[in-house]
Amino acid sequence: MEFSTFADRAGKIEAETADLEIVDLVTDLFLDADGDLEIVARYVQGRVFPAWDARKLEIGPSTCYEAIARGAGTNVGPEDVEDRLAELGEIGEVAASYDFGGQQGLGAFTAGGGGTDLTIGEVQEALSGLASTDGSGSHDRKVDVLFGLFNRCSREQARYLARLVLAEMRIGVGEGTVRDAIAAAFDVPEGEVERALQVSNDYGRVAVVAREEGLEGLEAMDLEVGRPVQAMLAQAGTVTDALETWEEAAVEWKYDGARVQLHHDPDGETRVFSRNMEEVTDALPEVGEFAETHLEAPTILDGEVVAVDDGGEPLPFQEVLRRFRRKHDVAKAREDVTVAPVFFDCLHGDGEDLLEATLTERHARLEDLLSGGEGLSKLWTTDDAGVIEGIDAESLEAGHEGIMLKDPDSTYSPGRRGKRWLKRKPDVETVDCVVTGAEWGEGRRATFLGSFELSVRTEDGYETIGKVATGITDEKLAELTDRLEGHVLTQEGQEVDLEPAVVFEVGYEEIQTSPTYSSGYALRFPRFLGVRSDKDPDDADSLRRVRSLLEVEE
Ligand code: AMP
Repeated sequence: MEFSTFADRAGKIEAETADLEIVDLVTDLFLDADGDLEIVARYVQGRVFPAWDARKLEIGPSTCYEAIARGAGTNVGPEDVEDRLAELGEIGEVAASYDFGGQQGLGAFTAGGGGTDLTIGEVQEALSGLASTDGSGSHDRKVDVLFGLFNRCSREQARYLARLVLAEMRIGVGEGTVRDAIAAAFDVPEGEVERALQVSNDYGRVAVVAREEGLEGLEAMDLEVGRPVQAMLAQAGTVTDALETWEEAAVEWKYDGARVQLHHDPDGETRVFSRNMEEVTDALPEVGEFAETHLEAPTILDGEVVAVDDGGEPLPFQEVLRRFRRKHDVAKAREDVTVAPVFFDCLHGDGEDLLEATLTERHARLEDLLSGGEGLSKLWTTDDAGVIEGIDAESLEAGHEGIMLKDPDSTYSPGRRGKRWLKRKPDVETVDCVVTGAEWGEGRRATFLGSFELSVRTEDGYETIGKVATGITDEKLAELTDRLEGHVLTQEGQEVDLEPAVVFEVGYEEIQTSPTYSSGYALRFPRFLGVRSDKDPDDADSLRRVRSLLEVEE
């Protein structure tokens, strides 16, 4: 296909606003693309290479401006291009504002060797060549090659070439449009196209397979150990959201590190990718070593790499950044900061793709693979908010970030920020409450006070607003019992009334009006965050503040 045809079609697509019409136009483009379908299916989204491909064009804006300036004529410099960009706001518009082709005779710089009409194949060949251009003189070589391309462009072609080169195609073609267009063009089900896109991350290949091999070909497309998949993403959410939507919630610690996807083939390579599918294998040798030691079958695992101290305890997130993506002096950096992987999902295990399996099934497979338990994220399944609080508290205690809540029945949706994975929202506000009552525990905890009654200040005293019972370690309970025991006013059975003396800082998810407590309000999912030793009961929060917090929520 000639590049002029592509530019012409891209212009029509860009001018169209109705989604269905856009799908029709892209469908026609795919049907007419013949031998260039693979490339065209990527170009419409502004991609030169498949999403999983580690190759990058690495053409910075200034290189592109220089090439445009040179193509535009002797009187034009990169500053003029930048000035026009400031005025017009978009590189395609800038490129289309110049007249190219004045520098005849220099077409020899193009990959195709100075033919007349630029073809898609020539553009791709030239750009692929650039991706492997590195080292000294590479800047000049890039400008030369780009100039050669611009020099053969009409204004409209230059518009889309500039956008392609800077990965700013933006003609209104999203992933869903490409999926629908492939399905329509080659008469295959959208769902199967979608699945093939998820496992391959390659729009070009899926389009070609759909055309050449139809449904059967798409069905045969699988994950490949060594080729990254987009990571499933989480939304912010609350325990309330989780328990109101699902029968039970899968709860995991949220590790404070960087996302990694491990691809391990015991008979081949081990590769590690970032959340954006960038390869980070060399920067994180510990992950490769972990795979060599612990994994015997071909696997794709999803997890987090965390910086740890000598005792294996987690260090803050900033420490991981000193290691992640590092290209030089990795051994030296490793001496300063050690990292360790924790895996929470299994996408492929020993020849079997698991994207369609439920989280419960995938985690069970992960447990089989990492039977020693090292590097395995623990998962609890529960419908009890109190148990969830306990897991959250343990996680924070162990130096992690809190919890993730996941739908146990959910499949793995690459690239989706859905509601099936929730990262628990951090507390927006906390309330400092006075402890006005407690209960003696039972069994192992018989000598501890627990289940603390929380109150807020009013003009005439204190009114209750909730109870915190879970999420406090035995060690902490012992300490709190020591502090509170001397303030017991009366005792009835296991229940004690306490003189207002100690102030707890309490996190919560929501404030609700409630007949249960004397203040008329309740803290939903209250969490003990610590004792405010610096505060007397008089400094605790007032009922008025609780009312104003509720107003803010509403
Ligand atoms: P955020 O980066 O705040 O959007 O939170 C989501 C990120 O938390 C994920 O992309 C992971 O990198 C990380 N994470 C830590 N622990 C887990 C876990 N158990 N499950 C899923 N993601 C986790």
